[in-house]
Amino acid sequence: MKTAESVVRAEGVHKSYGHVEVLKGIDLTVAPGEVMCLVGPSGSGKSTFLRCINHLETINAGRLYVGDQLIGYAERGGRIHEMRDKEIARQRRGIGMVFQRFNLFPHMTALQNVMEAPVQVKKRPKGEVREQARQLLDRVGLADKADSYPSQLSGGQQQRVAIARALAMQPELMLFDEPTSALDPELVGEVLDVMRGLAEAGMTMIVVTHEMGFAREVGDSFVFMDGGVVVESGDPRAVLAAPRHERTQAFLSKVL
Ligand code: ADP
Ligand code: MG
Repeated sequence: MKTAESVVRAEGVHKSYGHVEVLKGIDLTVAPGEVMCLVGPSGSGKSTFLRCINHLETINAGRLYVGDQLIGYAERGGRIHEMRDKEIARQRRGIGMVFQRFNLFPHMTALQNVMEAPVQVKKRPKGEVREQARQLLDRVGLADKADSYPSQLSGGQQQRVAIARALAMQPELMLFDEPTSALDPELVGEVLDVMRGLAEAGMTMIVVTHEMGFAREVGDSFVFMDGGVVVESGDPRAVLAAPRHERTQAFLSKVL
């Protein structure tokens, strides 16, 4: 993806599953280096939106740009325009995604997990990839776990390997979908610390999270979604201190 004024730009993005409209016109922009925290109740469409950005879903109306490329657009009731498969594959390689469940390959060591995509997808030389993978494991604080299998690692360690694995593709955008929601509370901090480090290094990130401390301290922007629409957005500290919309207030009063 080439650097553009925005890394992600959504204009009136709609997404339906059958007759159920899940995204009802999302407008938002993510600038290079921005950390956007996407917050909202379960079922509000957060994961669906990330999946649209990452080409795991096609949109039904609106326009969605990643970098300077229009990845999908559709007029209501009209044909859905999509990029060619090759373009999609190329663009997806530039986007790293980390899920709630770590999804590591269980039969591979931490190091092998991190090496897999650069070797298999990018066809890069193994020696060079191994060196880079070791550096990435070091970056997430797991240099000494390179030869451990996922079953030998804690949830927090597995999630840090998953982050290193996503970074191995040298993405220009990282999408995090509730990366700490499946973790025991005492393991959440180590994963958030790695994400904070990424943010400080200038990575563009969209983070779906219920961790309001992270949003306040690390986020550049805060987007509150409910019912498939953006209810309110702004500076995280401002929104968290004084949410304007009653739906935001109700939600935050439960999670803060
Ligand atoms: P969130 O991540 O905010 O919890 P989701 O994007 O996962 O919300 O889901 C939004 C809505 O879309 C939910 O009502 C969910 O049941 C529905 N949904 C999500 N994925 C599918 C799917 N593949 N098929 C049908 N409905 C779906
Ligand atoms: Mg979700």
